[in-house]
Amino acid sequence: MSLVPITVAKGDGIGPEIMDATLLILEKAGARIAPEFIEIGEQVYLRGIATGIEDSAWKSLERTRVFLKAPITTPQGGGYKSLNVTTRKTLGLFANVRPCRTLVPYVRSKHNNMDLVIVRENEEDTYAGIEHRQTDEVYQCLKLISRPGTEKIIRYAFEYAVANNRKKVTCFSKDNIMKMTDGIFHKVFDEIGEEYPSIEKEHWIIDIGAAKMADTPEAFDVIVMENLYGDILSDVAAQIAGSVGLAGSANIGVDYAMFEAIHGSAPRRAGQNMANPSGLLNGAIQMLVHIGQPDVAEKVHNAWLKTLEDGVHTYDIFQEGISTQKVGTREFALAVIERLGQEPQKLTPVRYNKEAKPMNSELYRMATRKPAQKKELVGVDIFVGWAGHNPAELGEKVKGAGTDALKLSLISNRGTRVWPTSNPSTFCTDHWNCRFLAASGTVVTHKQILEVLGKLEAQGLDFIKTEHLYNFDGVAGFSKDQG
Ligand code: NAD
Repeated sequence: MSLVPITVAKGDGIGPEIMDATLLILEKAGARIAPEFIEIGEQVYLRGIATGIEDSAWKSLERTRVFLKAPITTPQGGGYKSLNVTTRKTLGLFANVRPCRTLVPYVRSKHNNMDLVIVRENEEDTYAGIEHRQTDEVYQCLKLISRPGTEKIIRYAFEYAVANNRKKVTCFSKDNIMKMTDGIFHKVFDEIGEEYPSIEKEHWIIDIGAAKMADTPEAFDVIVMENLYGDILSDVAAQIAGSVGLAGSANIGVDYAMFEAIHGSAPRRAGQNMANPSGLLNGAIQMLVHIGQPDVAEKVHNAWLKTLEDGVHTYDIFQEGISTQKVGTREFALAVIERLGQEPQKLTPVRYNKEAKPMNSELYRMATRKPAQKKELVGVDIFVGWAGHNPAELGEKVKGAGTDALKLSLISNRGTRVWPTSNPSTFCTDHWNCRFLAASGTVVTHKQILEVLGKLEAQGLDFIKTEHLYNFDGVAGFSKDQG
């Protein structure tokens, strides 16, 4: 049978030890892979390559499209770009998949039956990194959620559930507050969910959902969420399962995929044959499933569970009374190898779906473009930097910038309406949103907006940004009630 080429980076700190242990287990389990080694991380950064990865390494990735990556050390000091962010964005790795399962009593946890998978959107949200300081006092980070980006991640979550015999997909969002961004995430979840009648679906507002997950994680199966929420809650889930050190993660794109441990390079433990290779091994197990070798994945996973069940533990999970042997990295790997072909007796063995088809990339290439039939410009939010404190004073100045086409309708400060009426207790900063609206039923032009801006400029007011207010097929594309 032909071997699947994969690109492997041993990384920094404990990286080389845990990678050697992982590759040895894969080899002995009969993984049909041909590793190609590349160098990434500290030494590459220190050679002056700001991304931590050489061009020649990209060539290997272009050939193999599968990346098994050990953790790296990002040198202290400025100027170094996060290799993870670069890889995710460059290779279009839109889905981050983190399974979190409890292994009580072998790995200590307050929960018994947790077995959930977090599917986190990996490319959008506040992680676009578009930030501005707009006034002396106010800093802004743009949260961008696109319909095609959302469709990809939601569909991936449902496809993952089907391929992995999961029963339920839960969506976490905050659409009671962010009605447009989180609103579209929830809406697309409902739309795409209809295509998967065999999967149970539910939506939780993220705050109470997160509380429920921390308290009763066994109530969840697959949970899909936006980037920032997923970043935070996937660490919470890994931690309450017992140890961040055991969790692996897959970063999946249409053309490429990257697999890793979620922990870092633990430099203080490096070179001592102490580190637990389980996080990286769990990433590698996800890789085996991805490249169509679920048989090997199952064999490795069950041998790993049996090793833990037999009490063969590295220092980080060692417990008096439960553990039988404290072993180093290499000995742990040899213990797993010895158990290849065996299954755990007390923990539930894993079963991977041998019939699962490889990921259908075409499902994710088609971005839905459903342009509105009618997009009408009905006003503009003009943000003004103004150091005064009395909204009525600003209102008088700004009102004069109105024209026949566009009239000042309200001023808000950090989302709270302060003009034409205000509450003296409302705290105001130096960042004011002046909303100009067209008369009901009419539309305006860009030129008419420029006329308003011209009048504000003539008054010496510092407009720091504009947001156009559109109706899409008669539905407002902006939050209406401010305050
Ligand atoms: P870390 O995850 O490396 O270590 C945190 C703690 O966990 C340490 O006490 C360490 O001893 C322990 N630990 C981690 N992995 C372990 C393992 N496999 N076995 C046993 N114990 C383990 O986090 P940190 O100390 O904050 O970061 C160290 C370096 O790793 C930094 O340079 C950071 O930038 C980098 N980092 C890299 C990645 C990555 O490459 N994906 C992720 C996170 C951090």
